[in-house]
Amino acid sequence: MALFLLVVLAFLGSALLRHPDTPLPQRWNVFEPLAVSDPITPITSWKLDWATSDPQMCVEIMQAAGRISAMDDLVVDDNCGIEGRVTLRSVGTAALDPLETSCATALRMAMWEEHGIQPVARDLFGTDVKIIRHIGSYNCRRIAGTDRMSTHSTADAIDISGFDLVDGTRIRLLKDWNGDDAKAQFLREVRDTSCDWFGTSLGPDYNRAHADHFHLQNRGWGTCR
Ligand SMILES: [Zn+2]
Repeated sequence: MALFLLVVLAFLGSALLRHPDTPLPQRWNVFEPLAVSDPITPITSWKLDWATSDPQMCVEIMQAAGRISAMDDLVVDDNCGIEGRVTLRSVGTAALDPLETSCATALRMAMWEEHGIQPVARDLFGTDVKIIRHIGSYNCRRIAGTDRMSTHSTADAIDISGFDLVDGTRIRLLKDWNGDDAKAQFLREVRDTSCDWFGTSLGPDYNRAHADHFHLQNRGWGTCR
């Protein structure tokens, strides 16, 4: 009897989620893909993982959340290449110099821009970030001093060197990280929020090799320094 009730409840629950006119908001519906501008819920990170593992879904989501051009996958060898390759030109209202990367990286950037970078900029400066400065994503190489391939080899990482605000203010990791002003505070807060969307975030606090950029990669065990 208990099992029967459980089956009935599961059926009704599933019908509620799948019904085209379901009253359940998209952000709470596990059958609805992620939308970058949706408010965050406990299932957001699950939806993000779903989207980043499906390049076609990822591209559709990004077309509503930034400026991208889908490209053919880059096939190089077992170590290097880009699955779900795109050219990224903006996330939300922030532009980037055109960047060849994976859609998964682009989507994580879009989540960070929407839910981290812009809210922090508005809070501290009362204005938005206009340009996100990067120093690349795809790079077929080993991690310096090791035999292991870098996550840049599959465009699963991006390096961010600074931000330009709408009013023209320039914020750079190399110059502004060690200050005690709003720029330094901004860099620390956006670093902290990047960890919500990337698996690993390494910056000036991690080591000297990262004095001038944040290394943000899709995979990892949550290192956030
Ligand atoms: Zn890097």
